[in-house]
Amino acid sequence: MVTVVMSSPKISSVNPATGDLLASFRCASELDVQDAVGRARRAQPDWHLLGLRRRIALIREFQKLLNENKAHIARLISQEVGKPYAEALSTEVLVVLDAARFLVENAFALLGDKYLAHGSWMTKSKRGWIRREPLGVIGIISPWNYPFSTPAIEALTALVAGNSVVLKPSEFTSLCALELESLLTRAGTAKDVLQVVLGDGATGTALVSSAIDKVVFTGSVQTGKQVARRAADRLLPTLLELGGKDPMLVLADADVDVASSGALWGAFMNAGQTCLSVERCYVHRKIYDRFVGLCAEKTRRLKIGNGLDSQTDIGPLIHEAQLRLVESHVIDAQARGARVIVGGKRLPELGANFYSPTILIDVSQQMRVMREETFGPVLPIMPFESEEQAVQLANDSEFGLAASVWTRDRRRGEKIAAKIAAGSIMINDVISCYGISEAPHGGVKASGIGRTHGSFGLEEMVGIKYVDSDLLPSLKKLWWYGYGPEFAGYMEQLTDLMFSRRRLKRLRAAVGSVRLVRRKGRL
Ligand code: NAD
Repeated sequence: MVTVVMSSPKISSVNPATGDLLASFRCASELDVQDAVGRARRAQPDWHLLGLRRRIALIREFQKLLNENKAHIARLISQEVGKPYAEALSTEVLVVLDAARFLVENAFALLGDKYLAHGSWMTKSKRGWIRREPLGVIGIISPWNYPFSTPAIEALTALVAGNSVVLKPSEFTSLCALELESLLTRAGTAKDVLQVVLGDGATGTALVSSAIDKVVFTGSVQTGKQVARRAADRLLPTLLELGGKDPMLVLADADVDVASSGALWGAFMNAGQTCLSVERCYVHRKIYDRFVGLCAEKTRRLKIGNGLDSQTDIGPLIHEAQLRLVESHVIDAQARGARVIVGGKRLPELGANFYSPTILIDVSQQMRVMREETFGPVLPIMPFESEEQAVQLANDSEFGLAASVWTRDRRRGEKIAAKIAAGSIMINDVISCYGISEAPHGGVKASGIGRTHGSFGLEEMVGIKYVDSDLLPSLKKLWWYGYGPEFAGYMEQLTDLMFSRRRLKRLRAAVGSVRLVRRKGRL
């Protein structure tokens, strides 16, 4: 069953390649959102009681349906966001199928109760258990650039852990979210356990202000800060997956052909509208000219067009406002001395939202294109002289989502990884760590708080409960009242027994500690 909560004002899904209107919806009001959250709350206990095995079975069914409907969904993603159909398949559908595989294979082991061994013999008479319990209602707010995979992975993870979900997708990609809801409903999600509320920022604000138990937000730093401020008022837990300005470091010993191809895919995939895009490229001076030459030559071979055309490598930007932002970064860079060697212009003959893939050189750290998230098909390349300088340039950013290091010496790359402040570092690859379902995804600094994907993502969807079970119910504890004048002395002996480095002292303390056990007069 599809739950579309409606009221004014309106939002529209538009094909960014053609300008065709795909659908219009009314935005859910504050009351609509509260109503959806109330229904999700009432539905959640039964969903939890259903049990983990049944919820895992649902994820398996969802996976089957998604695979059967992959062509339809990839086509819809391409229509609503503009990315090539093949990219929609490889970077969204496939990634979600594998995330479902991860949950099916691991949720049982990761979410089950865990015995907690006690190290201190003072507490050996107790058994401890860690229990992972659903948080309740998870509010998910998602962006437009990965309109299917981002909300799908977050929703599947929340659901398998026994939560109910209210999802507020981007106002530009309502259709993909409704398709996700439809698949989950067909897979057997109980009524009201997963609801989609359509709308813009006001609907998102209403969701953060509603009686949810956690907000999982993916979007820009600016909006993320607003969400965090609002959530702080009532100490609502937040998971924030925000923007990036990912650096790529190409060392002198890198395979220049491979690294230049990686740079292009990393910078231009999804028209550069990927949180993990290569947004800054630093190349060792020795190979800089060759690297730039190869990037330029390969960029000229890329095909720009409608994502549904099988020849297309790069589609349009999501809308004109995004194009203007990208353009303003290139203009700012040129005004400060940068040179465009390929691209740097709109392509109106293709449509209003097309911008040519662009290579910029003679860039400096002060330019907007090196400091702010560009989120478009622009690759600024800058030379460096030493490893130290490369690391310093990489870390000179308010963001810290991901980074990549390119070298034939894998160990050297791994050593450099330790010096870069980012949530993920890839050696000789870009972006694809997002598709490794076991790997955590998330950033440091302004790029966010918390992790999605894998076991760490699952932990974000549960509350930890510690259950302590005493095995000697008829024994008053050694440390209870009735201290009297001797208790402090017994405790001194006990701490010596446990922590003194001198064997003789420990031996004497052992004898003294027996008195602690026999201590009379405990209340
Ligand atoms: P955005 O911040 O404009 O919007 C994100 C979502 O928040 C949308 O659903 C929007 O309607 C909603 N929203 C807007 N104002 C709100 C408010 N005040 N309160 C609550 N919700 C509100 O971002 P966008 O343009 O949709 O997406 C692009 C950004 O997302 C980029 O910065 C990109 O790097 C980031 N992103 C990050 C990741 C990640 O995993 N770190 C993944 C994808 C995208």
